[in-house]
Amino acid sequence: MSIAGNVGLADLPRICPLISRRVQSSFNAEETLIVAVKEVQFGGVRPVTIAGPCAVESFEQTLAVARAVKAAGAEMLRGGAFKPRTSPHDFQGLGVEGLRILREVSRETGLPIVTEVMDPRLVETVCEYADMLQIGSRNMQNYPLLIEAGKSGKPVLLKRGMAASLCEWLGAAEYIAKEGNLDIVLCERGIKAFPAGEYSRNVLDLSVVPAVKEQTFLPVIVDPSHATGVASMVEAASCAAIEFGSHGLLIEVACDHEGAAKPRCDAAQAINPATLRNIVRFIESHMEVRMMRKAHAV
Ligand code: PEP
Ligand code: MN
Repeated sequence: MSIAGNVGLADLPRICPLISRRVQSSFNAEETLIVAVKEVQFGGVRPVTIAGPCAVESFEQTLAVARAVKAAGAEMLRGGAFKPRTSPHDFQGLGVEGLRILREVSRETGLPIVTEVMDPRLVETVCEYADMLQIGSRNMQNYPLLIEAGKSGKPVLLKRGMAASLCEWLGAAEYIAKEGNLDIVLCERGIKAFPAGEYSRNVLDLSVVPAVKEQTFLPVIVDPSHATGVASMVEAASCAAIEFGSHGLLIEVACDHEGAAKPRCDAAQAINPATLRNIVRFIESHMEVRMMRKAHAV
């Protein structure tokens, strides 16, 4: 019996020739495309740490978190100005005001910013402020949005759809690549597989990291915050992701500052700056171990 629309890894050279390692033979089996966001490089030897609040809530909150994550060793700032929320009655983000805050905070701290764009009509606006566009899990297969992001020429952080197969995820990346934009970083953020929701928000699929690296030369990072939904799990999930070969991490952080309130989104998964510092230390020690292993292998 053949099933319509069913695709597997063998179909990838046809589905996404522009990003397929098997088709693009200029990349050898190990080589990764370096995606640069200002001076930050994804796909190099050092895994990149992106950290910041779930949502931009105020200038004071964003600046305080940005300063704290920079001091902890993060190289890039995250923060949503347009938030995809389950209920339309929940806080939807500050919109363009949030983008202005991000730009100001980026100028203050020197951290490049990644922020989500949900609407193809807003790609141009978000590009005026962001150094990297984030396409969220819920929009991974929003093809008009992928095409606009591709046309924009900005680096794109493409999160895996919460129920997307590897083929569907790479097919989505191909839409961006087809517009001439290969500056794509893939981001695993947990999938809705059994038993998601019982003791963690999603199921963190770490085995997809080496699988992505086998199929494409694009860098791949992991978001341990949305994958687990539990702050106490984020450090271990981050370290495990690095062990699995992730090119970086996208982490939600909250911190105390004057007038600080509980984050309006995803408070239960936000770690504090001290935990982020531990994660960055782990990355540094892991790199040393990796280099030592390499030196011994020769
Ligand atoms: C986010 O990173 O802000 C976010 C909403 O994540 P996801 O799209 O993975 O749910
Ligand atoms: Mn969040």
